[in-house]
Amino acid sequence: MASMTVDNKLGVNRFLPDEKHSHIDVDKGYGDLKEIKRLVLACPAHLYVLEPGGKLTFSHEGCLECGTCRVLSGGKVVRSWEYPEGGMGVEYRIG
Ligand code: SF4
Repeated sequence: MASMTVDNKLGVNRFLPDEKHSHIDVDKGYGDLKEIKRLVLACPAHLYVLEPGGKLTFSHEGCLECGTCRVLSGGKVVRSWEYPEGGMGVEYRIG
């Protein structure tokens, strides 16, 4: 089997997002840019985006459920974090 990059491995995952409820509650108006940039840099799925002008956008769809943002934020930008409802979220195909 040929070796795969991390991006290739992540690319075969399946997602069933909960379109009615985000399992992560993000304070998009949080004022500390330093805290926001930590999440932008750390999220392996690149779901935290700092738009030009400093506006934070976030989408839970594509979340890998790693919990990194929950730990890094310490209750600041990420107000609450829970796993998606059963049967929803990411389904890892490799690893
Ligand atoms: S749990 Fe992981 S993948 Fe999901 S938003 Fe947080 S850092 Fe990104």
